[in-house]
Amino acid sequence: FFEQVPLAPPDVIFHLTATYKADTFPQKVNLGVGAYRTDKGKPWTLPVVKKADEILHNDPNLDHEYLPIKGIPTFTAASAKLMLGADSVAIKERRVAGAQSISGTGAIHLGALFLSKYYPKGAVAFVSNPTWANHKAIFNNVGIEVADYPYWNPATRGLDIDGFLGALNAAPNGSIIVLHACAHNPTGVDPSHEQWTAIADVMQAKKHFPFFDCAYQGFASGDLAADSWSVRHFVDRGFEIFVGQSYAKNFGLYGERCGCLTAVTRDTVTAKRVDSQFEKLQRSEISNPPAYGARLVNIVLNDPVLFAEWESDLRTMSGRIIDMRDKLYKKLIELDTPGQWNHIVDQIGMFSFTGLKGR
Ligand code: PMP
Repeated sequence: FFEQVPLAPPDVIFHLTATYKADTFPQKVNLGVGAYRTDKGKPWTLPVVKKADEILHNDPNLDHEYLPIKGIPTFTAASAKLMLGADSVAIKERRVAGAQSISGTGAIHLGALFLSKYYPKGAVAFVSNPTWANHKAIFNNVGIEVADYPYWNPATRGLDIDGFLGALNAAPNGSIIVLHACAHNPTGVDPSHEQWTAIADVMQAKKHFPFFDCAYQGFASGDLAADSWSVRHFVDRGFEIFVGQSYAKNFGLYGERCGCLTAVTRDTVTAKRVDSQFEKLQRSEISNPPAYGARLVNIVLNDPVLFAEWESDLRTMSGRIIDMRDKLYKKLIELDTPGQWNHIVDQIGMFSFTGLKGR
């Protein structure tokens, strides 16, 4: 039967990376894949990750046993704390459920799968236009229809807040709204606190379900709390939410596939039910998550000294990105480049919509 299988096109970004690797031009630069590079164009292993690695490998009890189905319990608890804040009321009230996932992609997949089973049928998931290409594919794969909401305003090279709010208002009540918690991919444009508040107002009135995708906490501004402001704001206002976390970028653990899906629910009993379904779904999907990356993150998140070192590593990465934006901006101005370029420095994180057109 294989002969009827159509040929799928290659993934644009990863195909570009393969072409880049094969190219012998010495001054080549890869602006495609969202992975941090040093000044020498090399991947960076965070110093704190090296330390955690040593601790891990000196542990005489280290083995290769299966993790629990929902992953390392101290890891998922620390991930919720990192996202919602150490003094989070939702955590204190024990109305949080969580599962370790195959990085951010796996967190969104597990959340989408959960929604496909338990969210009212027919609900549409709205994603920003533009967004990370995988969002649509992940929701479609579990049978959830995807539509988009306006996000990028080419005229201002900033946020189309009116279009965004208009689409939230026009969407059927109880729609699923996928939100980038910070450092929007691919535009680098984030809503301000006032704009997030307006977004939450409409979503509350329309009873929409917020599904946060947080792939860049601490990587955008260098400040972990500032980068999760949006998520905490929604939780403070009483929303039930999903939030998918990725440790690919902020720990530099791209290939280790380490992430977490957290649900904030209305009460403890509900959280327990959600947790039980996470376990059931995860069992049939992957049985147990991979151990290595989560063990490293677990060590760092639960040790105050290493945590502080991680924050410093984050500032190194985010600081360099900010510095590079600054240098590019200054050079464009110095060269009297026609047009306005302030969006280069106003945008945040590793992505930038330059406003330049391809040929
Ligand atoms: N969401 C967004 C917006 C992303 O940019 C990425 C990484 N490119 C992810 C999720 C998830 O990536 P990963 O599965 O590698 O954690």
